[in-house]
Amino acid sequence: MVKIIDGKQISKEIKDELKAEVAALKTQGKNVALAVIQVGEDPASSVYVNNKKKACEYIGIESLAFHLPETITEEELLQKIEELNQDEKVNGILVQLPLPKHIDEDKVIKTIVPEKDVDGFHPQSVGALSIGQKGFVSCTPAGVIQLLKRSGIEIAGKECVVIGRSNIVGKPMALLLLRENGTVTIAHSKTKDLKEIAKRADILVVAVGKPKMIDSSYIKEGAVVIDVGIHRDENNKLCGDVDYDDVVEHVSAITPVPGGVGPMTIAMLMHNCVSSIK
Ligand code: NDP
Repeated sequence: MVKIIDGKQISKEIKDELKAEVAALKTQGKNVALAVIQVGEDPASSVYVNNKKKACEYIGIESLAFHLPETITEEELLQKIEELNQDEKVNGILVQLPLPKHIDEDKVIKTIVPEKDVDGFHPQSVGALSIGQKGFVSCTPAGVIQLLKRSGIEIAGKECVVIGRSNIVGKPMALLLLRENGTVTIAHSKTKDLKEIAKRADILVVAVGKPKMIDSSYIKEGAVVIDVGIHRDENNKLCGDVDYDDVVEHVSAITPVPGGVGPMTIAMLMHNCVSSIK
């Protein structure tokens, strides 16, 4: 029997736990506040920012929205971040990416103080993860670990293969699986014999950015498959990096798209905001 991992339900569980924590913090006079900076009018960014605002409202986190014009200079944006770094009322700072081309994203990420880096993108946060120290963890891979744990899927001792090595998904995903005592392989566009490597996986995490690329020929019978990808297919329907219909018969557990990894990213962002006050 295949287990369909319900990211919607698990993310709701996490948000409800956080809601209770935030209420308890309020009784101690502590208020959690997230500052979200959006630059320009990118429609996808507006949707993401709005979803974050809604999640904050649900949990009881104060959300401070800063919608800045596309024409803002890099210096002005860095100045705004510096102000928020200094502002004691603000626990977390998030700059919605991508930014307009004239602004250096790396510089922006590095300007947010690590104590408020709820996206977990600052080099200090990434370094802390790699040497097993405390720090914020990138939300999507942190969400994948929660999906596995809360579905009762053991990671320790398992062959884990991550396809993709981006800074926001693939690399932190591999480090987190390693932290959970998985035996981890990272595959990427230069990997030889990808199918053979993917077929070794007890847990296969796919973050390749190619719609439906991973079909059953990449899957070991009974593997757990986590699909991070999000795309629109030729019929404008959401789909992942995994060919779900082809793969589902061969796995023991799988995340659907939508309703798998997607909802977890915001839940883990909210988790990071709440832990920033602790
Ligand atoms: P990137 O494009 O940054 O990275 C893709 C990775 O896949 C790269 O490391 C690349 O290798 C590797 N790759 C590309 N083609 C192949 C191939 N043919 N064989 C093996 N490896 C390959 O993507 P992201 O990590 O940012 O995102 C991955 C997917 O996850 C996307 O679909 C994205 O939309 C989705 N996503 C979903 C989120 C969510 O909340 N659910 C959040 C973030 C992303 P190389 O390094 O060699 O180029």
